Amino acid sequence: MADASPPRIGPEGPSPSPPAEPAGPHPDASPPLIAIRGVERTYVMGDSLVHALRGVDVTIQRGESVAIMGTSGSGKSTLMNIMGCLDQPTKGSYVLDGRDVAKLSRSELADVRGRMIGFVFQSFNLLSRTSALENVEMPLMYQGISRRDRHKRALGALDRVGLLGREHHVPNQLSGGQQQRVAIARALVTDAPIIMADEPTGNLDSKTSHEVMALLQGLVAHGKTVIMVTHERDIAAYAARVITLRDGRIVEDKPQQPVHAGAAA
Ligand code: ADP
Ligand code: MG
Repeated sequence: MADASPPRIGPEGPSPSPPAEPAGPHPDASPPLIAIRGVERTYVMGDSLVHALRGVDVTIQRGESVAIMGTSGSGKSTLMNIMGCLDQPTKGSYVLDGRDVAKLSRSELADVRGRMIGFVFQSFNLLSRTSALENVEMPLMYQGISRRDRHKRALGALDRVGLLGREHHVPNQLSGGQQQRVAIARALVTDAPIIMADEPTGNLDSKTSHEVMALLQGLVAHGKTVIMVTHERDIAAYAARVITLRDGRIVEDKPQQPVHAGAAA
């Protein structure tokens, strides 16, 4: 068989799928980073069922910056938790970087999560009696990295978020914005390609929120894929794509011109 033959198209002929949702591997593109298909998530609450997600389809490519919006209870955190492999769908499929998440064992899942995703939370989730440096080193503890290298990488990550000089402070010696920067450094230290943030500015004042958003969106320029949840329009404005949920369904998914991070940096 000639090596130069074009990539084979299946016997059914060219795929009828629209270009925005490629059906499979494309000759010159890797599979989407995130492919969520028909995802439902139902919680059992006593005798009743809560339909947190009612059939969601999302494709996210590498290097995208996405905001997930919607009112409280619309399913934003549920979707983010599924994307972050912290939760599994009741129905539907999730393929992360070509792997069907439902088929992974517990330890494979933990491994994929650790390598692929850095998390940032509304409440920072820092260890309170632990220095900024040690908080940032924490994800590396599970990766068999030497103490010396952990230090070096954690300092590098703190430098990236503008916190060199504060590495020995514990969280309550830092402002909210600084604590969230430590959390961002912790999300960066493993070099995970995806940063996921659920309401990252929910506990910050307006000025600090914009500084944190500038920092998060600045990561996109360095090749990260940034996915965040927010219910605030001016925070979502930093993303290049906004997905809006209502009552467990996507009601809008559209690109936008992101506000320039430089203005607030
Ligand atoms: P959002 O983040 O948009 O505020 P969530 O994804 O947290 O929304 O919640 C979506 C819906 O699912 C809500 O009705 C919420 O009460 C419900 N829900 C979320 N988590 C649970 C849970 N662990 N058990 C039962 N219901 C839940
Ligand atoms: Mg939420």
